[in-house]
Amino acid sequence: MTMHRRSFLMTGAALAAAAMAPRFAAAQAAAGPFKLPPLPYAPNALEPHIDAQTMEIHHGRHHQAFINNLNNAAKQHSQLASQPIENVLARLGDVPEAVRTMVRNSAGGHANHSMFWQIMGPGGGEPDGDVNAAIQRDFGGISTLQSRFNDAGGRVFGSGWVFVTVDKEGKLAIESRPNQDTPLMDGKRVLLGNDVWEHAYYLKYQNRRPEYLKNWWNTVNWKVIGERYAAAKEGKLGI
Ligand code: MN
Repeated sequence: MTMHRRSFLMTGAALAAAAMAPRFAAAQAAAGPFKLPPLPYAPNALEPHIDAQTMEIHHGRHHQAFINNLNNAAKQHSQLASQPIENVLARLGDVPEAVRTMVRNSAGGHANHSMFWQIMGPGGGEPDGDVNAAIQRDFGGISTLQSRFNDAGGRVFGSGWVFVTVDKEGKLAIESRPNQDTPLMDGKRVLLGNDVWEHAYYLKYQNRRPEYLKNWWNTVNWKVIGERYAAAKEGKLGI
């Protein structure tokens, strides 16, 4: 009887602990120089356009996996962590061949997702100031930028990203990349970008990528993008 009650209590304690844990706890982080940047808002902050479960899995599992891979690689190759990640990406040829493909995917994924969380936020809104003037000049307006961006995102076959790049003169361009590649690999700078891997939208949108691309604009944080635009023109924008 005592044994029976004891095992019941232990089971109860374990259940209570499990109930208190987050539903989608981040995968166990390996110790190392790379850290998962916290989401700058709650996982449900982008609803109804992006659901909380997608955000929790995307940030806590997918992005964490890139961090874990980079930390494992940095044990043998400390130069990966001793310079800004955009510099590693711009010179992948300098990365030892044994880990080059993994670093391409994981450092690209880390940079892309770090940018992605930052340029989203609740509330949406419209561009203003210098970045709005650049959008008017280079695309004729936000609606043309959005339709061209969404078309490019729809044309990505399989998994990849669609970006707006910005050069030091402030000129904007739309570019897509496969997998976790990024214009940073060509020494360029990213103003904003959208993840068109199925994991970014499948729970809510299933195969309806165009609908996701359209609704995603409601989550874009133009204040942060305006700051990124100014930093790019000053040569101070990293990832
Ligand atoms: Mn992703």
